[in-house]
Amino acid sequence: MAGDVHDLVVAGSGVAGLSAAVYGARSDLDPLVLEGDEPGGQLTLTTDVENYLGFPDGVGGMELIQRGKEQAEQFGAQFRHGSIESADLDGQPLALSLSTGETVRTRALVVATGASARWVGADGEDELMGYGLSTCATCDGAFHRGDDVLVVGGGDSAMEEALFLAKFADSVTVVHRRDELRASEIMAERARDHEDVAFAWNTELVAIDGSREEGVTGATLVSHPDGYPREKYEAGEDVDVEAVDVGGVFYAIGHEPNTAFLRDTPVALDGDGYVQTAPDGDAWATTETAVSGVFAAGDVMDPDYQQAVTAAGTGSMAALDAEEWLASTDATAAGAAELVPTEAGD
Ligand code: NAP
Repeated sequence: MAGDVHDLVVAGSGVAGLSAAVYGARSDLDPLVLEGDEPGGQLTLTTDVENYLGFPDGVGGMELIQRGKEQAEQFGAQFRHGSIESADLDGQPLALSLSTGETVRTRALVVATGASARWVGADGEDELMGYGLSTCATCDGAFHRGDDVLVVGGGDSAMEEALFLAKFADSVTVVHRRDELRASEIMAERARDHEDVAFAWNTELVAIDGSREEGVTGATLVSHPDGYPREKYEAGEDVDVEAVDVGGVFYAIGHEPNTAFLRDTPVALDGDGYVQTAPDGDAWATTETAVSGVFAAGDVMDPDYQQAVTAAGTGSMAALDAEEWLASTDATAAGAAELVPTEAGD
């Protein structure tokens, strides 16, 4: 760090941010890691991670994150609470205004702010989120012993949530808007084979009943044999409407990238808000963004794979790209200094 300007700030402390911090710290860049609103990221909401290389018996998501943080700290990374509220990325150094009220200045930035759970848009969800409605079965599943619960979604997250909830709930119904799952075959098979997990195909959730005092008490589902019944219901078309008694609802319909702080900056985002990397289009596998000195890693720049192991991979790439960029700007500055004529007597 020169003066109060850091060489490298890593925004986010999920697996991508931690991997960038390990690589940055081992390169003597003394990275400062801004932990973000959800320290540790999505892996802290997961039970066992079975597909992270090197753990044949699986590893707990929280354990993997704690070990990664320990590893980064061991090489000298510093961690600070807070997330970026706004950023001035128009010149050097980059200036980051944090939720804590501080401003942090840095030459290079790795954006590893991940993605947050998407909401369905059902009536009642604003009031009941956290009161029987949840986006995290591993966090809230144990509150639903003996309940009948719904899981909304058809991807791997929905299967994982359903299987976890089946340990506590009397019954779990996966509500999916089509008649075909998006989940990987192995996860889908496990859910289909579980005796306490049922599927409501071509069905969507339109309302959740309950109160903050009582929690969730019921839900309204709509279904149509052609799928996507909600838009038909909203258009006034004929769909089946069913009120069900349930004690819990879990959303597992994917995530949205945490890039609000980049909207007014020159960093290019795609239509869904993901950071676009390799702005020149011809640079394969780079983490560079449209702003010099700003790199991106993990789910925030990867709508397709979103795996712990790919996030760790792009995290390491972002730190290596940042290191190379810092070295090249140092070389440029040194070259420019050589060209500047010195005053007599200097
Ligand atoms: P996802 O794969 O994008 O699946 C989202 C699901 O939610 C889809 O089935 C989608 O339906 C449905 N959906 C989206 N918007 C909806 C809406 N407004 N209303 C109703 N349904 C809606 O997301 P994910 O399951 O969170 O998985 C994300 C990534 O993480 C994937 O790459 C996945 O493999 C990975 N992951 C892996 C594991 C594991 O290996 N253990 C666990 C969790 C996640 P459609 O299918 O109709 O689009």
